[in-house]
Amino acid sequence: MNGDVRKIRLLMELRKQGVSDTGVLSAMERVPRELFVPEAFQDQAYENIALPIGAGQTISQPQIVAEMTAALELAPRQKVLEVGTGSGYQAAVLSHLCRRLYTIERHRTLAEEAEQRFAELRLGNIVVQVGDGGEGWPVQAPFDRIIVTAQAEMLPETLLSQLREDGVMILPIVEKGRGQKVVRLRRTAAGVERETLMDARFVPLLNGLPSQAESN
Ligand code: SAH
Repeated sequence: MNGDVRKIRLLMELRKQGVSDTGVLSAMERVPRELFVPEAFQDQAYENIALPIGAGQTISQPQIVAEMTAALELAPRQKVLEVGTGSGYQAAVLSHLCRRLYTIERHRTLAEEAEQRFAELRLGNIVVQVGDGGEGWPVQAPFDRIIVTAQAEMLPETLLSQLREDGVMILPIVEKGRGQKVVRLRRTAAGVERETLMDARFVPLLNGLPSQAESN
């Protein structure tokens, strides 16, 4: 079966699982996931599962990508920050739905590989930075939308402070006694509203840059 047929099957599966946002589905249709997974997992690129991408990290399950992207309520003129570039797949999907996407990854090798993929796909509206995403991207703040694709232990206040009023931030976070959940935060004039959206299983959001040992 060729990649396009597998991709269509995946998109049908996502619809069946309740993903109804046509903007999100067509953005996912435009991104070849096989380019974002290692050689050894090529035949599983269009399965609805997370896969290893090296440096102990994973490319998220397509369904989670779809649901988190839909939950962001993107509009074409928005400026978006992603923390945790990983393979770059989520970033590529987002880039079709916003004006400019800023993405931060703490592993240099992953960031460089993702950047090459963006160049290959001519996704000119993505900017990648190697760094600690917990610090956000102060010179580009405020952002209309922020998405974190690694699980935080506590609410990242620094990131929240870089969210524009009426802005939306989506992140996986550990809720006391309930495990890891994806939550949506909305900044309003009155404060921050919080909603729990779904269960999640993301790798942890870590502080600082990797040590030599961790990079290998
Ligand atoms: N969005 C990715 C999947 C993310 S996996 C994709 O579509 O493939 C989570 C990523 O977050 C990993 O690559 C991990 O290295 C990165 N990460 C963890 N803590 C981080 C931090 N503090 N700053 C930047 N990146 C971080």
